[in-house]
Amino acid sequence: MTAVIIDGKAVAEKIIAVIKAEVTTLKVKPGLAAILVGENPASKVYVDIKRKTCDEVGIYSELYKLPEQTTEKELLQLIGKLNASQKIHAILVQLPLPPQINEGKILAAVAIEKDVDGFSPENVGKLMAGKEAAVPCTPKGVIRLLEEYKIEIQGKNAVVIGRSNIVGKPVALMLLNRNATVTVCHSKTRDLKHYTRNADILVVAAGKPKLITAAMVKDGAVVIDVGINRLGDKLVGDVDFESVRMKAGYITPVPKGVGPMTVAMLIENTLERYKAIEGGRQK
Ligand code: NAD
Repeated sequence: MTAVIIDGKAVAEKIIAVIKAEVTTLKVKPGLAAILVGENPASKVYVDIKRKTCDEVGIYSELYKLPEQTTEKELLQLIGKLNASQKIHAILVQLPLPPQINEGKILAAVAIEKDVDGFSPENVGKLMAGKEAAVPCTPKGVIRLLEEYKIEIQGKNAVVIGRSNIVGKPVALMLLNRNATVTVCHSKTRDLKHYTRNADILVVAAGKPKLITAAMVKDGAVVIDVGINRLGDKLVGDVDFESVRMKAGYITPVPKGVGPMTVAMLIENTLERYKAIEGGRQK
């Protein structure tokens, strides 16, 4: 079997085009503030792509690139200012933050109605309770790809590799909320293959190139590769794409798979936050 290649780039472009058409009709533009602290090269690239996409769509954006030594107090002050800004409807704090800053404190400081990434304790709690509100962009993008390709989730064995707060855990919860039987594997899992070989849906978010080989995948499985790893001048995922595509039913490539969906979901979440806030203002 040769897998259907899930075209995340095309799906993302379609979503962005629809949002762009809607934004054109709005008098007050949605506003997104992105905060980047420090010099993490991958984070810089992501934030620049997000900003460029905002420009293309007609979303007003403010980008704050703060030095590595920024204090928690300074960052909290900036968030306070953005929470109060009428122009800003969505606030994104690019993770990871430098060690002197308490991530939990920062994420909790973002006003709930402007929490575009769904990382505030309240939104995390809602996701956990099966009442999804603002949900993190990458997991949302994964689920949207499954929906776009009409891949049923209910009743399936879903295996998620990775348990980070930004990808693994939320994607596992979203699959569970959609009635999959979910197994979460991580760096301490013994005999990873034992779990992956039973997966109807395999979501890989470990950040380890070629972690998943064809021998670890069930025939016809849906393989979603979230990983982004730089190998020389090439970007690769966590899945050995060339071998796994000969066995899987569906597979996402890297690049042009989950990555563009993360950006599209950020734009969608920004519009959702805008509607929640502006709808409230008009009442
Ligand atoms: P992370 O480093 O916070 O978490 C990695 C997880 O993988 C951990 O839970 C760890 O236990 C697990 N893991 C590591 N090695 C493993 C192994 N050998 N076997 C099983 N589990 C293992 O990373 P993250 O922030 O969750 O990101 C994961 C990957 O996804 C990275 O490559 C990152 O660049 C990528 N990413 C992509 C997007 C996107 O838009 N496509 C967005 C966010 C992250």
